[in-house]
Amino acid sequence: MIAGTHSRLTWSLARLLLTILLLTLTAYSQNFKVTLLGTGYPRPVMERFGPSILVEAGKEKLLFDCGRGAALRLYQLKVPFPDLTALFLTHLHSDHVVGIPDLYLTGWIFGRSAPLRVWGPEGTAGMMSHLQQAYRFDIHVRRDVDEKLPAQGAAVIAKDVGQGVVYQNGELKVTAFTVDHAPVKPAFGYRIDYSGHSVVLSGDTRYSENLIQFAHGTDVLIHEVLDPEAYRAGDNLYTAEQKQRVIDHHTTPEQAGAAFSRVKPKLAVYSHVVPFNATDLMAHTRETYSGPLEVGEDLMSIEIGDKVQVLRASK
Ligand SMILES: [Zn+2]
Ligand SMILES: [Zn+2]
Repeated sequence: MIAGTHSRLTWSLARLLLTILLLTLTAYSQNFKVTLLGTGYPRPVMERFGPSILVEAGKEKLLFDCGRGAALRLYQLKVPFPDLTALFLTHLHSDHVVGIPDLYLTGWIFGRSAPLRVWGPEGTAGMMSHLQQAYRFDIHVRRDVDEKLPAQGAAVIAKDVGQGVVYQNGELKVTAFTVDHAPVKPAFGYRIDYSGHSVVLSGDTRYSENLIQFAHGTDVLIHEVLDPEAYRAGDNLYTAEQKQRVIDHHTTPEQAGAAFSRVKPKLAVYSHVVPFNATDLMAHTRETYSGPLEVGEDLMSIEIGDKVQVLRASK
C-alpha cells in the first residue's frame, strides 16, 4: 500500500516534470515575434517613429534599422540593451540610421559591455567608424575618466555585407537580399528564418522582383508603402518634381498588393507608411490583393507560429 502510493507519487511527479519540460520547449521554439518599433519615415511625428523593427527568435533579439526613437521604444518594451544580438541595416538613408548614436551610447551607459554589432550594405563600417569619431569626447570621458564604463561596450563590430546569409545561429538564419531603391544603392531587404517559419522585411524599395523571389513561401511580409495622391497633397516643402522622384523609388499600395498576390504570405503588413496619415492604403491595395493585410502601427507585434497573430498596442 505504502509502496504503491510511493510509486504513484513518483510517476505523477515524473509526468509533471515532463509536462513542464515540454511546455518550456514549446514556448521556447514558438517564440518568434516581430515588433514594429517605428513605422514612419523622415518626418518627425509622434504617431510614427523612425523605421525600426525588432525580431525576437528564441533567445535572440535582432534589430532591423534604427530610426528616430528606436532606443526609446526598446526601453518602453523593457528590452535590455545588452540583450540585442545585432543591428542590421537595410540602407543608409538617414531615417533608417539616425537613431544609431542613441542605441550605441545610451545602450553602453545602460548596461552593454560587449561591442555593438552592426551589419549593413557598403558604407556601414565607414559610417560606424565615423560615429565613434564624432562621439569620441563622450566615449573618452565615460570610459577613461569618469564612470570608467567597460571599454568593450564602446567598441563596434561593423561589417559591410552583400546579398546572402549574413547571420546564422542554430535554427535562426538572416538573409540579406538586394531591393530596388535606386538611386540609393545598395539597399537590402531581409528574410529571417526561424524554426520552420519566416518573416520578410522589404526595406525601402520600389516593386522588386528580387524581393518576390526571396519572399517565396514566407509567413509574413512586411512592406514599405507610399500613397502618391496623399503624398502629393501634403505640404509644399518639396517641388512637384522632387516629390515625383521620391514617389518613383517607393512602392504604391497597388504595386505592393501585386507583390503580396504573388508571394501569398499568411499576413502582409505595411510599415514605413508615407505619408504618416495616409488613409486610403487598404482601399488602394484591395485593387490588386485580397489576402490578409494590416496597416502597421508603432508597437504592433506579430507572433509567428503555426498561426500568425497580431497584437496592437492601442487595443
Ligand atoms: Zn526610408
Ligand atoms: Zn530610403
